[in-house]
Amino acid sequence: NSASIEVIVGPMYAGKTEELIRRINRAKIAELKVLSFKPKIDNRYNGSSIVSHNGKEADCFVVESIEEMKKIVQQEKFDVMSIDEIQFFPKEVVEFCQEVADSGKRVIVSGLDMDFKGKPFHIVPEIMAVAEHVSKLTAVCMKCKRPATRTQRIVNGRPAKASDPVVLVGAKESYEARCRKCHEVLRD
Ligand code: ADP
Ligand code: MG
Ligand code: ZN
Repeated sequence: NSASIEVIVGPMYAGKTEELIRRINRAKIAELKVLSFKPKIDNRYNGSSIVSHNGKEADCFVVESIEEMKKIVQQEKFDVMSIDEIQFFPKEVVEFCQEVADSGKRVIVSGLDMDFKGKPFHIVPEIMAVAEHVSKLTAVCMKCKRPATRTQRIVNGRPAKASDPVVLVGAKESYEARCRKCHEVLRD
């Protein structure tokens, strides 16, 4: 009985997508049908595959809503459902994953557990609570090289402020993996 939810979390660059793809590939070796999803986000390049920072890929449906995923789940025969970047879906995605797992499927999701301020990210803590398995991965801290649990947002060359809007028009932005000690959020 594989009915269960597995969650893979950690900061950016922790290898969440790599680990998700590894599990997808192993399921395929076991001749299981895998249905994979990722959210369509703004103007980022989306393609039709889940891609990790080191170039690993897995085919997926790029969807704009939970309804879209529901439709595909109803139409397709599958054994395993995977979702990358789970933090970008509305809160109902938790109930959706629960329903799919309750129907006997293996559900694997991955995403950020904290935002750039180090706060729990949206519904990710909630799905971690109801999951059978949680894997919390670390990246390498770009300042001290120790294990990194957080995502540092850098705006125009300085750590982001708590009040910086999520989308800053015209700003030069980047993200780095950082440990608790090296993670910074500027006060206003
Ligand atoms: P995530 O989905 O968690 O953002 P990915 O699976 O896409 O991560 O990418 C993981 C890969 O990122 C690593 O295997 C490594 O090649 C690369 N990488 C780049 N910067 C870092 C870092 N600071 N720490 C760890 N891995 C890094
Ligand atoms: Mg990823
Ligand atoms: Zn550090």
